[in-house]
Amino acid sequence: MLRIYDTRARQVEEISAGRAVRMYTCGPTVYRHAHVGNLRTYVLSDLIRRVIERRRVRVLACQNITDVGHLTDSGADKVMEGARAEGRSVRELARFYEDAFVADSSALNLRPPEHMPRASETVDLMIELIARLVEQGHAYVVPDGSVFFDVRTFPTYGDISGNRLDDLKPAHRIDAVDPRKRFHADWALWKPSSGELTWESPWGPGFPGWHVECSAMSLRFLGSRFELHVGGIDLRFPHHEDERAQSDSAAGHEVVRHWVHGEHLLFDGRKMAKSTGNVVLLSDVVAAGLDPLAVRLAFLEHRYRQQMNLTWDTLRAADRTLRRWRARVAEWSESPSAPMASGWVERIESAFDDDLDTPSALRILRELERDDTVAPGAKFETFLHVDQVLALDLSTEIGRARVLPPGAGELLEARARARDARDWDASDRLREELAEMGVRVSDTPEGQSWS
Ligand code: AMP
Ligand code: ZN
Repeated sequence: MLRIYDTRARQVEEISAGRAVRMYTCGPTVYRHAHVGNLRTYVLSDLIRRVIERRRVRVLACQNITDVGHLTDSGADKVMEGARAEGRSVRELARFYEDAFVADSSALNLRPPEHMPRASETVDLMIELIARLVEQGHAYVVPDGSVFFDVRTFPTYGDISGNRLDDLKPAHRIDAVDPRKRFHADWALWKPSSGELTWESPWGPGFPGWHVECSAMSLRFLGSRFELHVGGIDLRFPHHEDERAQSDSAAGHEVVRHWVHGEHLLFDGRKMAKSTGNVVLLSDVVAAGLDPLAVRLAFLEHRYRQQMNLTWDTLRAADRTLRRWRARVAEWSESPSAPMASGWVERIESAFDDDLDTPSALRILRELERDDTVAPGAKFETFLHVDQVLALDLSTEIGRARVLPPGAGELLEARARARDARDWDASDRLREELAEMGVRVSDTPEGQSWS
């Protein structure tokens, strides 16, 4: 079974699975396109899911859509601000970027989660949870209609990130000196409002805080105990710390078994973030003529727990590998069938189970590709088997590559002769004729090849 680094336990732990593993991933805030940095975190969830499912254990995934409540540093709602900037309604903007996110996820072969609740459609769950926390004495209502979590009622606050209450300086938070709070590190569960994003509640009209949204949705869709909670490393504090305090206080016990965090993606050496303007979208990758799955392969070349620096060169290299593997799989598919290369599969799978050591898995796969003692049919079976986890569409060229349209064979031969005779004009003309038939010719040191 998969062993994975648990941020709270600070060690690698085996996931104990019954019949199913339940996994919550903090979903995107839909006020702009997800950049490939964000997507790295969602590839992590997908990878966890595929590695576990290979063991015939079902994964039940919930990944929310944050379309209200996530505030900027200056306290504005991100979606509301985005809508204002683009001159659209909040709902229109949120649905637009949600659709774009779903399309990007699908281009990266991310399996759709079983549950994808929108925060704006589950506000009743948040109100219910907040009311419970107030009733239990974990939260308090202030005269303007805000509700705050009383963090000092949760003694193990800080277990995930190590940020203990005693060490947290008031200055750490922008609203440090908010006189409505009993303690500077308390946070809002409910905020009064009157704009487009407003719901009725026992405390007056308003909207829920981002942290309580994830608690309410995870408790509702996965239950009061679940195995995995996934997000990017920046969510460790305060988002996940606050979420744990809310969920555990309401449930009366530890709700999440393992907290898993993916490290950040850098681009050209700097953290990818909208605020630094250092953003690459999946559509930029496609516009550069690269396969979107080159992004997935580039991610897999690094361990999820390492910061990773992406560059256009790495993406182009990943794209070449992808194309080469697809071509080779197609080639091997024409050889007599053979059982999977034993020993190899076990090594690759144990790398996956070893805290998602995908760089090692890929290294072993490259070794297998080069090993002349392994029958092509066995390579074929092994690559396809491993692709259930890698999800790189390695079978897409099968049956496609080797069938020439009628007449193309003669043209290829004529072009080879033209090249031998150094007749470049004829060679170029023949290449164009072939291109019109759908045959792409390229010249390599070994002679011309086609696809
Ligand atoms: P957001 O849509 O801003 O709520 O972020 C969605 C997810 O992307 C969260 O899990 C973040 O932690 C994660 N994230 C943000 N920036 C990066 C980055 N540069 N690399 C990897 N993950 C990131
Ligand atoms: Zn969350």
